[in-house]
Amino acid sequence: MRGALGGPRVLLRRLREVMAEPVSAQERLDKIVVLIAANMVAEVCSVYVLRVDGTLELYATEGLKPEAVHQTVLRQDEGLVGLVASEANPINLSEAQTHPAFSFRPETGEEIYHSFLGVPVLRAGNTLGVLVVQNRASRAYSEEEEEALQTTAMVLAEMIASGELLSIAKPGAEPAIRPRLHLTGQPLAEGIALGHVVLHEPRVTVKNVIADDVGAELKRLDDSITALRADLDLMLERRDVADGGEHREVLDAYRSFANDQGWLHRLREAVSTGLTAEAGVERVQSDNRARMLRVTDPYIRERLHDLDDLGNRLMRQLMGQDHAPPREQLPDNAILVARSMGPAALLDYDRRKLRGLILEEGGPTSHVAIVARALGIAAVGEIDNIAGLVESGDAVIVDGSTGDVHLRPAADVESAYGERVKLRARRQAQYRALRDKPSVTKDGQPIALMINAGLLVDLPHIAETGAAGIGLFRTELQFMIATEMPRISEQLSLYRSVLDAAGGKPVTFRTLDIGGDKVLPYMRAEQEENPALGWRAIRLGLDRPGLMRSQIRALLQAAAGRDLKVMFPMIATCAEFDEAKELIERELTSLRRRRHKLPDRVEVGAMVEVPSLLFQLDSLIPKVDFLSVGSNDLVQFMFAADRGNRRVAERFDPLSAPILRALLLILDKARAGGKPVALCGELASKPIGALALIGLGFRAMSLTPSALGAVKAMLLDLDASKVEALLRPLVETPPTDGTIREKLEAFAAAEGLQL
Ligand code: PEP
Ligand code: MG
Repeated sequence: MRGALGGPRVLLRRLREVMAEPVSAQERLDKIVVLIAANMVAEVCSVYVLRVDGTLELYATEGLKPEAVHQTVLRQDEGLVGLVASEANPINLSEAQTHPAFSFRPETGEEIYHSFLGVPVLRAGNTLGVLVVQNRASRAYSEEEEEALQTTAMVLAEMIASGELLSIAKPGAEPAIRPRLHLTGQPLAEGIALGHVVLHEPRVTVKNVIADDVGAELKRLDDSITALRADLDLMLERRDVADGGEHREVLDAYRSFANDQGWLHRLREAVSTGLTAEAGVERVQSDNRARMLRVTDPYIRERLHDLDDLGNRLMRQLMGQDHAPPREQLPDNAILVARSMGPAALLDYDRRKLRGLILEEGGPTSHVAIVARALGIAAVGEIDNIAGLVESGDAVIVDGSTGDVHLRPAADVESAYGERVKLRARRQAQYRALRDKPSVTKDGQPIALMINAGLLVDLPHIAETGAAGIGLFRTELQFMIATEMPRISEQLSLYRSVLDAAGGKPVTFRTLDIGGDKVLPYMRAEQEENPALGWRAIRLGLDRPGLMRSQIRALLQAAAGRDLKVMFPMIATCAEFDEAKELIERELTSLRRRRHKLPDRVEVGAMVEVPSLLFQLDSLIPKVDFLSVGSNDLVQFMFAADRGNRRVAERFDPLSAPILRALLLILDKARAGGKPVALCGELASKPIGALALIGLGFRAMSLTPSALGAVKAMLLDLDASKVEALLRPLVETPPTDGTIREKLEAFAAAEGLQL
């Protein structure tokens, strides 16, 4: 082999000596490049450091003109060095000048060098810089040399990450070790939170990079892999995962990776070059993470994530650390950061200290997002590699309404958000002051404001908001956050707690609305082309009456001696309602026969959320005790626009004639039939939506708890007869000079209503 005098192990030993010397940062870097160049028999060795402004600055060189140091600054889209940084991949060329990305800076004098080997300086998958060797002759660097240079880059990564180079950096152009970042993801749960990062799965920091005894390190690696495999086998044998489901699949994937020769070979190779076992694992993981960030195929990404998890497990095995990080000592204003997280894990944290959540995955309908909303913490999902970008304790701002995340924010950004938080807090205090005021419009119309709920953590909201009751209790949430089907006793206990917490205020339980996108991890889901139009909600309930009957039994028993209100989701025909109601009758009869105490009264209602019901109201209304409009689904189906797809969801305005006419029709028919009607979709959770509903004639609605204060403040100032007089004619004859929404906004402004 040409080059590599003494090989990487000798180089690492020498580097360790240099790292220990009491010299300045610049001297240390200068010595490092000389050592590397000599060891690799290269004429040039240069270190470029990525700066906070995204450019790459030449920090040290052996071979290029010394005056270029700290002068030459490259963009990340400039030249081969830029390409190594932006792709986070090595580039190895015997004829660099023929590469399309080649460009040179005259001040460096590098035009005389033909061969080029550049590797990224990586840490946790993030590029910190680029390490380059060059030779005058056109030579091919071997794979071993490439590997050796990457190993050496780890030492540099530690040096850069330690902050040592800050002493020789230009102000405003410091190394991007912990850059200020503004990232945007998917809004998951409303709210603004300022706080400090707590990693859900803390990263292990490798302190010792260079091995004392390579043989011993290889043995440590092998022993840990053996232990890891045994651990996985044990977990797979345990009963709780032996029954199938997601968990088992993941563990199976881990096990096959743990036996994957490619992975094992890369680990051993990294350690063989002279790294400690931990540094070897980090080396391989860092490459893997860098790859993960650039792959778009979701399947491959998922596999790379699994491999990353496995790397973490191996690392903890090596360091002898427990798998579960401590949850108790959460700092105040904690912002949790995780790649992904289950709802149960989130509920494990101390609610009083948790302010926000940032995830690499997680869509708005994910279970963890549902729990975050119930807990009232700001949450943002789909932020690539966030767990790799942050360090524990970093300052961070989460804006759950827009999806913005500011990592290590500038002082002015922080103070602007601080003001917004204060403003929100002031508003919340004003709303709290309204809690005990009767919910009546200025002209004396009582409006029942209830809340939507679904979990135990929602229950305190009844007292906090002074709501008139729970207008929609989404029973499926208990099923969605559980790891296995909740037993009937667990259902009963939840329903009883809900009725207790409501303290006599009405609660409307909705039977299971699962299927579609609300999948249960422990129930085999059929792949459907259009899940929202598929086998879900009442359709599934009627086809699998066992599940629905046990839920109904739990509801009837929980409400023994009290009033019970039950409604069915996604009713599309009267016959479905009849069939569902019949299940309730049968359970009542059966409980009666077995001398169980029964509810004092059972009211059975239908949700109006499928447009076909609009044309069956005359026959439906006599059958029901009440109606509740699910505007989220009704709007989705009327406009044929997926409510979860941001591209289309905001394209159509629910405050426009077609929807308002449908609502008016439901209201008028229910009134004529003498049946109460409420609305429990998101439409009621915005003051302008509630204004429109009152204008149509709705006198009962159910809201997201956090929205209740603002809606109540609006209606206390509202003259209901005025908005009725405005809206009804507009719905019948839509305006030609602007939209109905604009008319409502103008009305609110003229009346001094806060929207
Ligand atoms: C609705 O569709 O409006 C509704 C309240 O139900 P969900 O949002 O749970 O589908
Ligand atoms: Mg619905």
